[in-house]
Amino acid sequence: MKIVQSTCNYCALDCNMDFYVENDRIVKVLPTKGYPVNDGFCCIKGLSLDKQQTVVKSSPLPKIRQADGQMKEVSWEEGFSHVADKLKELQAKYGQESVAGISTGQLTVEEFALFGHVMRNYLKTNVDGNTRLCMATAVVAHKQSYGFDAPGYTLKDLELSDTIIFVGANPVVAHPILWKRVKMNQDPDRKVIVIDPRKSETAMNADYWYPVRGKGDLVLFYTLANVLIEKGYIDSSYIEAHTEKFEEFKEFVKKFTLEEALENTGLSGGQILELAELIHRGKRVSFWWTMGVNQGYEAVRTAQAIINLALMTGNIGRPGTGANSITGQCNAMGSRAYSNTAVFYGGGDFTNPARRARIAEVLGVDESRLAENPLLPTIRLLRESTRAESRASGSSVPIPATAGLTTRHLPGR
Ligand code: SF4
Repeated sequence: MKIVQSTCNYCALDCNMDFYVENDRIVKVLPTKGYPVNDGFCCIKGLSLDKQQTVVKSSPLPKIRQADGQMKEVSWEEGFSHVADKLKELQAKYGQESVAGISTGQLTVEEFALFGHVMRNYLKTNVDGNTRLCMATAVVAHKQSYGFDAPGYTLKDLELSDTIIFVGANPVVAHPILWKRVKMNQDPDRKVIVIDPRKSETAMNADYWYPVRGKGDLVLFYTLANVLIEKGYIDSSYIEAHTEKFEEFKEFVKKFTLEEALENTGLSGGQILELAELIHRGKRVSFWWTMGVNQGYEAVRTAQAIINLALMTGNIGRPGTGANSITGQCNAMGSRAYSNTAVFYGGGDFTNPARRARIAEVLGVDESRLAENPLLPTIRLLRESTRAESRASGSSVPIPATAGLTTRHLPGR
C-alpha cells in the first residue's frame, strides 16, 4: 500500500497526515508522527478523511467543454493556452478589469504567488485574498499597530505562557491541536482565561470565564487598559522604548471606568479588577483571538485594543507572550505574506520600496513589472461585477452605492 504524506485542510492547523492509498483510493488516514504541528495527533475531522472514498489521481488532465456541450480531456499545454487565450479575449473585448481573481486560504504559498503574479503583474488586473471575508479586520489591526500584517507567535507559545487568554475563540472545538498545546503546558501556575459571551467548550475547560456582553468587548479592553494604567500595572520601559502616542491613549481610555463597566460590558467592576490582577500577576501573558473578534463589532478597534494590552504590559516579543490572532484557514497567512491581499504588498504599503524590491526578488522579475497601485478588494469587485451584469442585462434595479455594514462609533472616537 502506498503512503502519501499530505495535509488536512479543514482548519488553520494544517495537520500533516499519512494517507494510505490502494488502487487510487484513500483507505486509511493516520496523523504523521514527528511532524512539528501535530506530531502523531489530529482530531476526528482529519481522521475521517478516509470516509470520503476519495479517488487519488496523480495528475488528472484538464477538460474543456466543446461546441457540442461535451467535456473533452486535453493536455496541460492545451489547457493552459485555452485559459490564457480566453482571459486575453475577455480583456480585449470588455476591458482590462473585466477579469479578476479571488484566492483561497487552501492554496500553497507557491500557488498564491503564481496566481497573484499572473493577475496583478501580467494581466494587470485585480486580485484579492479571501482573507477579506474572514479576518481582514485583524490584517488592518496588525498593519495599523505594527506597520505590517503578521501575528508573531508559534504554537510553542501556548506551552510557555503562564496566563493564556482566549477572546472570542473556542479552540477545544475549532482548533483542537492548538488546545492540545495548552494541555501540554506544564506550568503549575498556568491559568486559562476565556472572554466570550458563550459558555463554550473552551470556557467550560478554563480556570476563569468572563461572559462579556455581545458588543461589549471593546469597552472591556479599554476599561482594562484604564485600570492597568491607574494601578501602575504597565511596563513603562517597554512603552518608552517601543511604542508611540501612549500619553494620548492614556487620556483616551480615562473615560472607561469600572463604575460604568457593568452597564457597558455585562461584567462587574470586580470581575474586571480580577482580570487586571491576573494579567498583572502573569509573567508570560498571551492573548489569543479569532473570529469572535475578527468578525465582531468594531473588530479592527477590538483587535487593536487587545494588541495595546500586550504592548502596555510588555507581554510581546518574548516566549509565551503576544497578541495572537489565530487564522481560520490552513494558509490564510500565506496569502497575506506573499500579498494576495488587494491593498498590500508583502503585508505592507503598496508604495513601500523595500517590500516592492523584496517581492520582485522573490518572483525573479524586474520591479517595473509589479503592479503600481492598490487593487480593488473583494467586496468592491463583487459590487462592480453586479453593476456590470445589471448594465449588460438592461436591469433598472438600482444597485446600492455601498454594500458594506455601517458601524456606530464610540463617543469621542
Ligand atoms: S485539527 Fe484541523 S487540520 Fe488537524 S485534523 Fe483537525 S480539522 Fe484537520
